[in-house]
Amino acid sequence: MSDRPADVRVKDFKEVDGGLSADEAIAEAERCLQCKKPLCVKGCPVCIDIPAFIGHVAEGDFPAAARALKEQNMLPAICGRVCPQETQCEGVCILGNRETAIRIGALERFVADRERESGAELPDVAKATGKRVAVVGSGPAGLTAAAELARTGHAVTIYESLHEAGGVLTYGIPAFRLPKDVVNAEIDQVLALGVRLKKNHLVGRSVSVDELLGYDAVFLGTGAGLPAFMCIPGENLNGVYSANEFLTRVNLMHAEAFPEVDTPVLHAGRVAVIGGGNVAMDSARVARRLGAKVTLIYRRGEEEMPARRAEVEHAKEEGIEFLTCTNPTRILGEQCCVTAIECVKMSLCGLDASGRRSPEPIEGSEFTLDVDMVIQAIGTSPNPLLVSLIPGLERGRRGNVVVDENGRTSIPRVYAGGDIATGAATVIEAMGSAKRAAAAIDAMLKGE
Ligand SMILES: Cc1cc2nc3c(=O)[nH]c(=O)nc-3n(C[C@H](O)[C@H](O)[C@H](O)COP(=O)(O)OP(=O)(O)OC[C@H]3O[C@@H](n4cnc5c(N)ncnc54)[C@H](O)[C@@H]3O)c2cc1C
Ligand code: SF4
Repeated sequence: MSDRPADVRVKDFKEVDGGLSADEAIAEAERCLQCKKPLCVKGCPVCIDIPAFIGHVAEGDFPAAARALKEQNMLPAICGRVCPQETQCEGVCILGNRETAIRIGALERFVADRERESGAELPDVAKATGKRVAVVGSGPAGLTAAAELARTGHAVTIYESLHEAGGVLTYGIPAFRLPKDVVNAEIDQVLALGVRLKKNHLVGRSVSVDELLGYDAVFLGTGAGLPAFMCIPGENLNGVYSANEFLTRVNLMHAEAFPEVDTPVLHAGRVAVIGGGNVAMDSARVARRLGAKVTLIYRRGEEEMPARRAEVEHAKEEGIEFLTCTNPTRILGEQCCVTAIECVKMSLCGLDASGRRSPEPIEGSEFTLDVDMVIQAIGTSPNPLLVSLIPGLERGRRGNVVVDENGRTSIPRVYAGGDIATGAATVIEAMGSAKRAAAAIDAMLKGE
């Protein structure tokens, strides 16, 4: 795929990756072996019939490819862009052993974009059952549960606390990776199935738990938006942000356009981003687009970074400096504002519980880096507000809602999926768990 040149793309928020042309998509699809026992399908958390949709692309029948995709996935243009295919369908594609795995994600994106541009077809919706289901949260988990339940004939209402739907797809992942018109178009497809969306409705505050439990079934998809902090001295200085706050200000509130919009964001000359995951890469690349010199600080080595390889490469191309095997120890400031960050070098020793080399501080290796802003992207945990208000709802050690393999919680008729149940994970895992929960809700409502 054609990426826009780094020196051009750091000046705006337009999409980096240009996608495949029709000829490229057909040529790529023709490489597929149409395996009888396709490993790629086993690698897909929502079980898309990958050989079928790729077969239609190879024949040039793009509408049929879109229908095959949407049988299992109502958000294909989103998944084609952000799913970690290299560790899922593409990671197990048989061709990966001989030559290059089929670029399933790029094909998925191509088909979904093509359908959006030429007018999308809606899947069938079953006759109304008369049952009402409430879905809390409009991220990938909530949208998927809503779409599946609407298709089986139930009357679904999504409650979303923010003024825009989409969860992390809207407020977290920046437009240069996931354009917002793509997200909105796929949300509109879910709503076109008959789903009602109530924005600006914070369940647990503006909607009571009693009202919620008055539905025939409830799906909780409230995500993991509670940021973690390092708990080091100086965290209360002006100029220290959680990645969630920083990204929300820019992606959702468009703070880069302040004062034309109401929400400001600090335009710092030198920014330190702490972390090595996708969220850290997104924060660093957004700060870069706001004009900063950005240093990414990560306590392990580059090979241990949890971020997708492509995001690491994109960040480097865009001039983000990587300080690996380095850990912040305190943030320094003057007159309540950040002026520098003190760090210590780390050495990597034996393997820890996660199977990665464990970082240990090197005594006497402390140094100081002058910065005006620090963004912490070291993880998030499940949103506590609603789940702490539902009496009898069992929660795990990390604050997650405890569910069985079908998304059932400890309370009858209440199901959960996505990051609120698993802790911070991926878009497609959130969708997979929501699909299983929706199937269980449907069976329960039909008395099966
Ligand atoms: C910056 C960033 C980048 C990421 N990049 C990737 C990536 O490239 N690929 C990938 O696969 N994954 C990525 N992820 C992870 C992925 O986005 C999440 O795993 C996924 O969005 C989880 O979906 P969800 O529906 O469970 O929760 P969310 O997307 O968090 O949605 C939860 C929704 O619930 C709403 N809500 C919460 N409480 C209430 C309430 N009480 N009442 C009403 N509404 C409520 C929230 O406002 C939110 O809209 C990224 C995450 C972040 C933060
Ligand atoms: S495993 Fe690879 S080659 Fe086989 S059907 Fe799937 S995408 Fe095609």
